[in-house]
Amino acid sequence: MQAIPPALERLIKNLMRFPGVGEKSATRMALHILRWPPAVAKELGASITELHGKIGICSRCFTFSEKDPCSICQSVRRNQETVCVVEEPGDVVAIEKTGSFTGLYHVLQGVLAPREGIGPDELRIRELIDRIDKEPVKEIIIATSSTVAGEATASYLCDILKDSGARITRIACGIPMGTDIKYADQMTLRKAMESRTAV
Ligand SMILES: [Zn+2]
Repeated sequence: MQAIPPALERLIKNLMRFPGVGEKSATRMALHILRWPPAVAKELGASITELHGKIGICSRCFTFSEKDPCSICQSVRRNQETVCVVEEPGDVVAIEKTGSFTGLYHVLQGVLAPREGIGPDELRIRELIDRIDKEPVKEIIIATSSTVAGEATASYLCDILKDSGARITRIACGIPMGTDIKYADQMTLRKAMESRTAV
């Protein structure tokens, strides 16, 4: 006898793909969804289905976007001379929420992790160098996380960008060591952006 209906089991298995969600939480979420009005559950399903079709990657800064270039790259109000280098699109969202940065971004799409086979060629580093060549970049803010991999990536970038002619700064103060910047609170992140130091 089947204890859990197959449709429910399928949902539980899919929910377990989220980081940190085990069988128990997935079951709780699935049962919760089951209690929703069917239209609401359908809307969740539709929004997931639509995601990959609608969201692409900006060909200039490599963040997720429905348009290419993204709205930040397209905006004439953004300072074209400052580029903030981050690991993931989620970091762009976090810095945008602080409201204190008016420049452009460059999303590396990860950090250097030689043991996992992620070297400079797997990240958008070549594209960053191309941008500095072609665009009027005067300052590059390196805003990778203060994790070991984030720091290693930052020092690699400092090294290869030191002759680029742009001023290289690193967000510093306030972000505790080992913190992923996505999870830093807005005030801390804002302070860290403001008190960046030349490297
Ligand atoms: Zn963009």
